[in-house]
Amino acid sequence: MGIAVSPQIHPQVAEFIDKPRKMLINGQWVNAASGKTFPSYNPATGEVLAKVAEGDREDIDRAVRAAREAFDNGPWRRMTASERGRLIWKLSDLLEQHTEEFAYLESLDNGKALGIARAADVPLAVDLLRYMAGWATKIEGNTIPISVPYTPGAKYLAYTLREPVGVVGQIIPWNFPLLMAVWKLGPALATGCTVVLKPAEQTPLSALRLGELIMEAGFPDGVVNIVPGYGETAGAALAAHSDVDKVAFTGSTEVGKLIVHAAAGNLKKVSLELGGKSPNVVFKDADLDTAIPGSASAIFFNHGQCCCAGSRLYIEKSVFDKVVDGVADEAKKIKVGSGLEPDTQMGPLVSEEQLQRVCGYLEAGLSEGAKAVVGGHKAKDRGYFVEPTVLIDTRENMKVVKEEIFGPVVTAMPFTDPEEIIPRANDSTYGLAAAVWTRDISKAHRMAEQLRAGTVWINCYNIFDAALPFGGYKQSGWGREMGHDVLNLYTQTKAVCTKLG
Ligand code: NAP
Ligand code: MG
Repeated sequence: MGIAVSPQIHPQVAEFIDKPRKMLINGQWVNAASGKTFPSYNPATGEVLAKVAEGDREDIDRAVRAAREAFDNGPWRRMTASERGRLIWKLSDLLEQHTEEFAYLESLDNGKALGIARAADVPLAVDLLRYMAGWATKIEGNTIPISVPYTPGAKYLAYTLREPVGVVGQIIPWNFPLLMAVWKLGPALATGCTVVLKPAEQTPLSALRLGELIMEAGFPDGVVNIVPGYGETAGAALAAHSDVDKVAFTGSTEVGKLIVHAAAGNLKKVSLELGGKSPNVVFKDADLDTAIPGSASAIFFNHGQCCCAGSRLYIEKSVFDKVVDGVADEAKKIKVGSGLEPDTQMGPLVSEEQLQRVCGYLEAGLSEGAKAVVGGHKAKDRGYFVEPTVLIDTRENMKVVKEEIFGPVVTAMPFTDPEEIIPRANDSTYGLAAAVWTRDISKAHRMAEQLRAGTVWINCYNIFDAALPFGGYKQSGWGREMGHDVLNLYTQTKAVCTKLG
């Protein structure tokens, strides 16, 4: 365990990963019922980083029972909205105080650059918790004037209550391990739900450390339960569990469909945040000094392991060469290395499996006739590194253009007629995000209206805020996370109708 870690490691992180990590059920840190553990790897070296209790059906069952009891009979339901909000705020303060520790954990477990985890992942998680803490006291119903034509003369008082949906199963991916945990936990806690969270097998550590802070903040036992384990076992058991009222999932579209099937047994509510193949459109009238680095960061941020990565780059023909060369130059400048090295800008991919997937796409693209202007291969002898890659000479029917690669690989394609670009940009089973770079405000907003995507960025990319809803059109998902939209995913409306005497 400690073996995979370099000497500069944060001391509290070294201590945390030194012992096998347990799961959080009903306020207690416990071993798996089976006694089994599984390894989490350091993707910069391929070595085992930590051992983690391996949750399975029985553990999920125990965790769901704890969440059910906490929801039905625990102190959580009797707390005021203000008390709930203050607990969430307290958690945000604790997380902020431990920023450095979480940045190290994220970098070690996921591979991302320490500086990015410190500047983006942790502060975004803190800010989301604060935003959600504020919502706890603002979840309101309505009073509704009703007429009821078949009871003439009668008078009614009718109103709605927004109530928590109940016990929520949350299944999250490995690309932003802490942030995805918080995107899910924040609104569930603000609305008064109870939770069983299953982190990704590749990156369970930051969610488990967050569990310690959740207990330290003073959330009652059973409100948040965290069960690490594999998707096919723990994840599937959670999605299918008959006592779970809702499942919230982020990950691949393929597994999203399995979740929908698993949820059918008790018709639990489902929200999904799935994959993407987002178009990024650069017009010749764009400010290329910002469009070029912006388009590079659209795909290379987080090593392309973003569901909203700008992976299809469409460039108006007269500026095609200039933009491609510019993005390729940006790619060449990216310092690829271990996340803990201070000058690293891009770390390794998260896992051996992900490395094989991305390299498989590169081989498929190159063998079908695509050309790599920069990159195109695995990097370094050890660890799961890939070169930032720009592919040209691609056609719309190639796998590298159609399918989500989830790595630092962009396909650049020219267009001549601005009218042609909308159908091409929308020609995808996905619809998560899109971007337009232009100085023409009218064109930008006309495009924004016509693009079938949950987020459209104009002259920017990868701008996230706790107040801005995020989610997918088409096969990119169901529902919106963040913003006030997310409250709909964790509440249900009760209509109350009183006949006045
Ligand atoms: P994935 O399999 O969809 O994993 C996402 C989460 O679902 C993980 O916690 C996973 O657990 C769990 N899971 C897997 N199979 C399950 C099942 N049958 N029932 C319930 N839960 C299940 O994603 P992946 O294998 O890590 O990555 C594959 C591809 O998914 C990527 O290359 C990328 O294209 C896409 N992806 C998208 C996002 C996104 O943000 N939209 C994030 C990650 C990946 P385990 O990790 O333990 O298997
Ligand atoms: Mg997986």
